[in-house]
Amino acid sequence: MSTDFLKLANVGVQKLHPYQPGKPSDELAREMGITDIVKLASNENPLGVSIAVKKGLIECIDELSLYPDANGHYLKQALADKYALKAAQVTLGNGSNDLLEMLTHAFVCASDEVIFAQYSFVVYGLLTQSIGARAVVVPAREYGHDLEAMLDAITPRTKLVFIANPNNPTGTFLKPDALKTFISRVPTHVLVVLDEAYFEYVNVEHAEDSSAWIVEFPNLIVLRTFSKAYGLAGLRIGYSLSNSSIAEILNRIRQPFNCNALALKAAFIALNDRAYLQQTVALNNAGMKNLSDYFKRSSLDFIASEGNFIMVDVQRSADDVYQALLKEGVIVRPLGPYGLKNHLRVSIGTETQNQRFKGALTHVLK
Ligand SMILES: *Cc1c(COP(=O)(O)O)cnc(C)c1O
Repeated sequence: MSTDFLKLANVGVQKLHPYQPGKPSDELAREMGITDIVKLASNENPLGVSIAVKKGLIECIDELSLYPDANGHYLKQALADKYALKAAQVTLGNGSNDLLEMLTHAFVCASDEVIFAQYSFVVYGLLTQSIGARAVVVPAREYGHDLEAMLDAITPRTKLVFIANPNNPTGTFLKPDALKTFISRVPTHVLVVLDEAYFEYVNVEHAEDSSAWIVEFPNLIVLRTFSKAYGLAGLRIGYSLSNSSIAEILNRIRQPFNCNALALKAAFIALNDRAYLQQTVALNNAGMKNLSDYFKRSSLDFIASEGNFIMVDVQRSADDVYQALLKEGVIVRPLGPYGLKNHLRVSIGTETQNQRFKGALTHVLK
């Protein structure tokens, strides 16, 4: 008799559905026999790797036979300087997903509750479930976080609250004042994980650097990443800013070499590459306006976004539209798995990529 290994897995794991990544371009190329593919499915930086990072990585190649610096000393110090914090308040992760995982594993057990919003980042639910903890999903308000309802959902069993701001996949944004008031009302036995993967894209008029709030709120953890605006998604590097005692706990469960040598080097360079970041944000702002205008002209409802992506209601099965767009060589993200059956999320691309997307969508919806 063959063993049913699934029965041996932890109860939470038995019911897990793995994370669905955006379809890779070369997979589509293989399947469809097309070459000129536009991928706007994973909120990657359309500018690609910066020249400064490329140069640094080449210099780093000869060091790859050695283990990386397990403490990520230079990058942590650079981040600490940038945010006027201590290096002991910075934790580096193999992408900010690694930090989400460390936080969940360090603090949550099966009898605990974890709060997050409906239509928020799918990883929060996966992690909570993997531990067998109770996920308390708070219904969205106009596709964004209902902070008042999230406060009401807190019980003595609540351990973590995840908040993505801007939110993925909807693009909604919580203004600093509202967020700060919320955090001040969360009891300190509850950790607030503020996932700011799109921080660098937020319109400066709305932005406030939440890392400055850590002094006031010791239960606040701010997550940021090099995957989006810094254009390093493939290298896997992100970080958290927190109270140093939380960082010390994360360091206990962190795998010794969780950040690889190339990632540490690239992130260090990218952090100082102001021109690349400015260019990234300018391109995103122009593309966001361009796509928003196009949706308005096409009478398609969309949600105003502060990220590098936009969610649009295509008024029919988004999955069908997604499939039809694939045939045109355009990869976007259908949001059925989030319970948004008629919505697509599209990343802002270069002018040419946006053009391709608009042409393809117009064709598909005709
Ligand atoms: C993209 C994204 C991340 C970043 O993931 P990495 O592991 O850093 O690549 C985290 N949170 C949200 C909400 C995201 O959209």
